[in-house]
Amino acid sequence: MTSDEAIYDAIRMILPNTRLLRPGEPGIEAYARDESTARPVDADLVAFPRSTDEVSRLLQLCHAQKIPVVPRGGGTGKAGGAIPIPGGLVLSTEALCGTPAIDRRDRLAQVGAGTPLEQVKRHVEAAGLFYPPDPSSATGCTIGGNVATNAAGPACVKYGPTRDYVYGLTAVLADGRVLRSGHRTRKSVSGLDLTALLTGSEGTLAVITDVTLRLLPNPGGAETVWISLPSLETALETVAEITRAGLQPRMLELLDSTSVAALRRFGESRVPGDLSCALVVEFDGSQDSLDEQLRGLIATIPESAQSYVAKSAGERAAWRQLRGITSIVLARVRGRKYSEDIAVPLSRLDEAVAEMRRCAREHGIEIACYGHVGDGNLHVNLLYDDAPHETIALVADEIFEVSLRLGGTLSGEHGIGQLKRHMLHRELGPEMARLQRGIKSLFDPHDILNPGRALAD
Ligand SMILES: Cc1cc2nc3c(=O)[nH]c(=O)nc-3n(C[C@H](O)[C@H](O)[C@H](O)COP(=O)(O)OP(=O)(O)OC[C@H]3O[C@@H](n4cnc5c(N)ncnc54)[C@H](O)[C@@H]3O)c2cc1C
Repeated sequence: MTSDEAIYDAIRMILPNTRLLRPGEPGIEAYARDESTARPVDADLVAFPRSTDEVSRLLQLCHAQKIPVVPRGGGTGKAGGAIPIPGGLVLSTEALCGTPAIDRRDRLAQVGAGTPLEQVKRHVEAAGLFYPPDPSSATGCTIGGNVATNAAGPACVKYGPTRDYVYGLTAVLADGRVLRSGHRTRKSVSGLDLTALLTGSEGTLAVITDVTLRLLPNPGGAETVWISLPSLETALETVAEITRAGLQPRMLELLDSTSVAALRRFGESRVPGDLSCALVVEFDGSQDSLDEQLRGLIATIPESAQSYVAKSAGERAAWRQLRGITSIVLARVRGRKYSEDIAVPLSRLDEAVAEMRRCAREHGIEIACYGHVGDGNLHVNLLYDDAPHETIALVADEIFEVSLRLGGTLSGEHGIGQLKRHMLHRELGPEMARLQRGIKSLFDPHDILNPGRALAD
């Protein structure tokens, strides 16, 4: 195990001149947690390899010694997947970072897995191109972490999640073998798509060291509309109308009455309107198409609503930010909070919300729903002061059951990690769970990569 001096020395031989954090050393405490509610665990050893070759040699050693390895990007995960395992190694990708190599002609970018998403987006935009996935954690998360969790974000309602933008990967298997998957073309039907399999594998199949991303042309301008609505039911009806009208927003976000009230109580004077709920809708494209989409949107807005079109890029950014800070504001204003991210078919959204509210009410828990409603992906937050952990866990499980019963999923974008694993067999069923374990054992026969996470038993 990594507290063993001989193992430490062997790892030091592989990484002679880089940081290696052991207990008691400054900075190691940051690696005990991620951004989930999972219990922190002190790391025994954190390594910062600088190349695919160093990752490969580290994994060869860990494979031979059966040492658990937890791959870690920016630690912004919401499912507990990057939290250390006692006696294991935290393999940080922080040093696998660099300026993306952008190829304008093939419209792609190649970038180290540890590069922060914000840095990737900045370079892509400077090249006049567009990389759509936009989790609100862009300053802290890494592109490798985004691939490992198949991250999404508001723009995915139009553009789809990270998986739609991964052309290829360099990844290191548990025994140190280096895999280069994918291609530099938009289309390929050569063999099984291992790039897609590794995307969303949450560090259980391989350590991703390098990513080739598909880029789009710059989509042009944007128009953002804040719609203040009298009830959640009206908000969900408006979402259904927007879908029925065939509009294609690049952002369709919901804030329920608890979320809007929390922003107001927090002193946010930027919240437009005075009704209880809100939808934030954004379009992109040429001026002609923006005008047409805006006209289409206005036709879907009920008379009981108040609507506001952003007057400047600053106002647009402020409204996006309001949605982005809702999670933090709810936690500040309401005390303790447990957050889930289920997704249901759009046609079942109203039923899902009604049933989840009923479950929570039966246990005396208030819930706040906000999020990527245009994708059917809701962040459902249980708000409580002193409810026992067992009650919160019970309500969370009932919410998962509601989602599954309505044809939905346990996780729209945050992944399974540690926190939802106990429910995964309910979503997958025995055959699928068995097949996935078989794939895991082919990639990682000693079960050293993020063992006990993301996959069903
Ligand atoms: C404020 C906030 C807003 C957020 N908003 C969104 C959102 O809108 N949409 C969304 O999808 N998510 C969102 N998230 C969740 C989180 O940012 C994403 O899951 C993100 O993709 C995690 O990236 P990371 O680099 O921080 O990964 P980590 O947290 O470090 O790791 C996450 C998982 O990926 C694995 N992993 C990380 N890097 C690698 C690698 N190179 N190779 C193999 N496995 C790896 C880890 O083992 C772990 O299982 C948000 C989080 C916060 C805190």
